[in-house]
Amino acid sequence: MKKLTIRWRMTLWFLLSTVLLTGLLFAALHIMTAALLQQALESSLTLAAEQIGAQIEQENNGLVYENETPIAPGISYYIMEENGSELFSYGEDIASFDGVPIHEGGFSDAVLEQQRYLVLDASPLTVQGEIVRIRVSASCAQNEETLRTMRRVFLLVLPPLALLAAGIGFLLMGRSLQPIRQMIDSARRIITAGDHTGRLSAPMVQDELGELTDTLNQMLQTLDDAFQRERRFTADASHELRTPVTVIRACTEELLLCENLPQTTGAHLHTILSECCRMQRLIEQMLTLTRAQEGRIPLRPERFAVADVLEGIRDALSDAARASGIRIQLSVPSDLTMIASQSLFTQLMLNLTENAIKYGRNGGSILLSAQEAEPGEVLLRVQDDGPGISPEDLPHIFERFYRADAARDRSGAGLGLSIAQWIVEAHGGHIQAESAPDAGTVFIIRWPAAPPAP
Ligand code: ADP
Repeated sequence: MKKLTIRWRMTLWFLLSTVLLTGLLFAALHIMTAALLQQALESSLTLAAEQIGAQIEQENNGLVYENETPIAPGISYYIMEENGSELFSYGEDIASFDGVPIHEGGFSDAVLEQQRYLVLDASPLTVQGEIVRIRVSASCAQNEETLRTMRRVFLLVLPPLALLAAGIGFLLMGRSLQPIRQMIDSARRIITAGDHTGRLSAPMVQDELGELTDTLNQMLQTLDDAFQRERRFTADASHELRTPVTVIRACTEELLLCENLPQTTGAHLHTILSECCRMQRLIEQMLTLTRAQEGRIPLRPERFAVADVLEGIRDALSDAARASGIRIQLSVPSDLTMIASQSLFTQLMLNLTENAIKYGRNGGSILLSAQEAEPGEVLLRVQDDGPGISPEDLPHIFERFYRADAARDRSGAGLGLSIAQWIVEAHGGHIQAESAPDAGTVFIIRWPAAPPAP
């Protein structure tokens, strides 16, 4: 399952915490309101009991209830004389002293016909030596309705509130993650361009993300420095090796001219000479690659006929091809031209054709073809009918010093295709290899109509 992005996860957390906090806030508000309503009801019952008590008087040897000041509406009451008889009563039966136990001086809850009531039994009064009991009660329906409405409003308001919170959370997260998105894009651009000098653009604010960008840029700088040191070392070492290898080769060639050389000495000198040639080629290739990476090889594009170059390559390699019984065929329109550095293009086609001879089939054939794919864009193919490249090796053949089958041929060092790839890409083109064991290999190059600006 695809994982949720940080933005969605943060939005969900934001939503969850908003719902939770709103719920907690509402619960606290509900408890407080319930307590306040209960308190108000208790106060009105206490006040009513006091009013009722104040209106009981002695008259003609008996107690009477004057009922001059009206008691608050909704309150029922019952006044009981010492002998248990009713002096006065008003309202619901709940106020009578039947059923609900007396809770002297305090409040109790009672239920009548599924309706909750609050009942207050006032402390017994003594009026002219006679004890009088007063019970007042009021329905809790109003309070319960108020609380029910509160809950309904909460449930009604919660979904749009949650939706709003999710929307705000999503926008906020998008804004806060924007610098990270920019960092990802910059990093991708650097990787795609293969440009070690590229850096992440610094964010406007120097917060944690700013710090992260600075740290990553420092890391890129350190890596770039290391790459540069390595390139410098390779370039310096190759340069330093050039002269001694040239001297060794010249001396060996001179020694080989001597007459009457013992047979084994001659054989050893031939070995030294061939290793010298191999080393010279390797040094040149390493220098080419390091110079290319440092951008020190100017392209100098020019228009030329592709057929001329391909014919030149066929002629230059005809001896080597003939030695392996390989036939080089050309398929290129004579009027096909392209814009490129002619010397680099020649080197590219030479590398690929030499490989096709080296790794091709004895007695086989090689086809060098070129055609215009789209206006100005040239499609080139170098195809052989050799044993091919295994699927495990194929993704690596353009890597430096990678050799799929080192035992088959010792003349190369695994740099030829890296140089070929650099030449094509420096001109804005694309090279790829298609191969399968025993099915030959074809290198396909797309060469753009015009090279990129330097
Ligand atoms: P090398 O100097 O070894 O030829 P390259 O970079 O030119 O180095 O090639 C890398 C590896 O790719 C070679 O060692 C070889 O195994 C493989 N390769 C290149 N071209 C071909 C081809 N036409 N057929 C089969 N294998 C090839």
